[in-house]
Amino acid sequence: MIFGGMQRSSTIDFPGALACVLFTRGCDLDCFYCHNRELIAGDGDQLAEAAVFSFLEKRRGLLDGVVVSGGEPTLQPDLEEFLRRVRPLGYRVKLDTNGRRPALVERLWKEGLLDYVAVDVKALPADYPAICGADCFSDVRLTIDTLCSLGAAFEARTTLYPGLDAGALGELLASFPPLPRWRLNYFHMPGAFRPVDETRLRLPALTPQSVGEALPKLLAAQPNLLHGA
Ligand code: SF4
Repeated sequence: MIFGGMQRSSTIDFPGALACVLFTRGCDLDCFYCHNRELIAGDGDQLAEAAVFSFLEKRRGLLDGVVVSGGEPTLQPDLEEFLRRVRPLGYRVKLDTNGRRPALVERLWKEGLLDYVAVDVKALPADYPAICGADCFSDVRLTIDTLCSLGAAFEARTTLYPGLDAGALGELLASFPPLPRWRLNYFHMPGAFRPVDETRLRLPALTPQSVGEALPKLLAAQPNLLHGA
């Protein structure tokens, strides 16, 4: 596994668990609002896997869970092997994914290597190429449909990127059946971005107030919507 860093503890990244967050290097998308831009390329400073396991050994019984995030963890060829080594340590495992590899997520879930999955649903299908650089909504959709059919514990999550209005958000939420959980993340300006994106990064973004005004319609589409600031 190629790790770019680790957050040693978090109370907000894994529902119901005190967890560390491991950030893998490399991503096959390029979202214009990405907050982990330094992780998109696969190269750069690495955190050795041995150091990760040393940390996990020491924190047994103190942390409940491990979040494998990125970058995009499903790009790591030894992800499954890594999870098989984490399991015996007694941690619950959450996978954060952009949803492009439904077959891998299905296999990991069926093999009992995951306890929770967060899948990014970034935009309406036609907007995917402009927002994240790839026309991959159908893969994301299949990942969600697969998790639903498996009865898996999971959430969809959407960053309220600048330029996304309440109408388009409502349309996106309504294009799926009610999901176990759908989390809205409010936009914050990333520390690093491509200069070409600066204009659209400064477009208006939905706020807790504007989401609140649209809430009846949003909740009608997704009753399990998490929309706190
Ligand atoms: S999928 Fe995540 S890590 Fe990859 S570019 Fe988008 S926001 Fe960044």
